[in-house]
Amino acid sequence: MNTGVSFMPLSEKIKVKTPIVEMDGDEMTRIMWRMVKDQLLLPYLDMDLRYYDLHIANRDATDDRVTMEAAEAIMHYGVGVKCATITPTEERVREYGLKKAWKSPNGTIREMLDGTVFRTPILAGNIHPLIASWKRPVTIGRHAYGDVYSNVEIRVDGPGRAELIFIPAGGDVPIRKTIKEFTGPGILQGIHNTDASIESFASACFTYALDREIDLWFSTKDTISKTYDGRFREIFARQYETYWKDRFAAAGIGYFFTLIDDAVARIVKSAGGILWALKNYDGDVMSDMIAAVCGSLAMMRSVLVSPRGYCEYEAAHGTVQKHYYKHLAGEETSSNSMALIFAWSGALRKRGELDGTPEVVLFADCLEAAALETIEGGIMTGDLLPVAERDPKNRKVSTEGFIEAVAENLRNKL
Ligand code: NAP
Ligand code: MG
Repeated sequence: MNTGVSFMPLSEKIKVKTPIVEMDGDEMTRIMWRMVKDQLLLPYLDMDLRYYDLHIANRDATDDRVTMEAAEAIMHYGVGVKCATITPTEERVREYGLKKAWKSPNGTIREMLDGTVFRTPILAGNIHPLIASWKRPVTIGRHAYGDVYSNVEIRVDGPGRAELIFIPAGGDVPIRKTIKEFTGPGILQGIHNTDASIESFASACFTYALDREIDLWFSTKDTISKTYDGRFREIFARQYETYWKDRFAAAGIGYFFTLIDDAVARIVKSAGGILWALKNYDGDVMSDMIAAVCGSLAMMRSVLVSPRGYCEYEAAHGTVQKHYYKHLAGEETSSNSMALIFAWSGALRKRGELDGTPEVVLFADCLEAAALETIEGGIMTGDLLPVAERDPKNRKVSTEGFIEAVAENLRNKL
């Protein structure tokens, strides 16, 4: 792949004008985060990092205040970059001796920032999507607010009636509906969304598709969820008719709504090059499918764009727990740091664009090119080796070995 970025003379460190909010994380990704910073960023950049340690132990020690403070800092400075973090479960509570199973930090940050997460595969020239018809990447636009991620759940022990009740603030008569007359134990879940958040989700997706001149698909299950999913469909349709139809036509692109199951079937037969807008849970699941089709969970860019313009860049995968335990046992690991590297390059590029510092943008381009050229040169981690084009020069390297190889490529470019 010709990345078009080759040389950037460097006599002193590049100044990043405005602070970047850095959120450290857990397990294997925390280890890779440190290496990426030490070898690929700090030697070249003079950055003011506002550091928030979202390590599970620190979230516990601060009663999770650190997560909220990090989100507030993103709203203050505009751009943040986040490592993967453990979402505590009962097992994790025992493993780390936590006070409780704190909420998902991603959930907390997304709820505070609102907005849409855009996820696009990172394509290396020697790794071809498993779906042969995909000539261009499929980008996911995942609504980052509400639904099951801010749910309220109850486990009921025995018979009783469950109701859904809305109490209007103005004192009008409450609306109530029976959910279920339980005759025995069971489970209940309450989820919500807001028109304001769906409007900004729709607007972010139409804007993204038009900027890149790609078709926008949106899919829900509104045949079953007529009111809830139906509301999403209505808002998208109304925005399209009111604001976007003519501009889309002028750009030669389209907006297409279809049921989620139909969309899943169609997407695998499409040529790609689409923005696929999805509700929060659907986007969570489908972005991992798309990353895997394109090589690995680590081959994905991910950015949360808030309606007020704040951006949070992240790795879409988790903390790679299994590799971390191997690392703790003293075994060699081969974990892929691409998503973490691209989270940093994304944040730096955005910062450079906002600050009007083209040298920072160019550094981000060089960093991405160095990483891609490493893989294209046959040096790759274990997740990519089986999916890369066969070539005798291909070689599996360790977690450290990959970052060192990227560092060498980067040095040669700067
Ligand atoms: P995961 O960390 O995404 O890893 C699942 C599997 O995918 C790994 O075991 C590995 O497969 C492969 N994989 C993922 N990232 C990789 C990478 N960078 N390089 C190479 N292989 C990679 O998911 P998980 O193990 O289910 O979750 C671990 C923790 O992450 C959980 O505590 C969860 O809460 C958290 N999580 C955080 C985020 C986030 O903060 N963004 C997202 C999801 C999950 P092999 O073992 O086959 O090599
Ligand atoms: Mg996920």
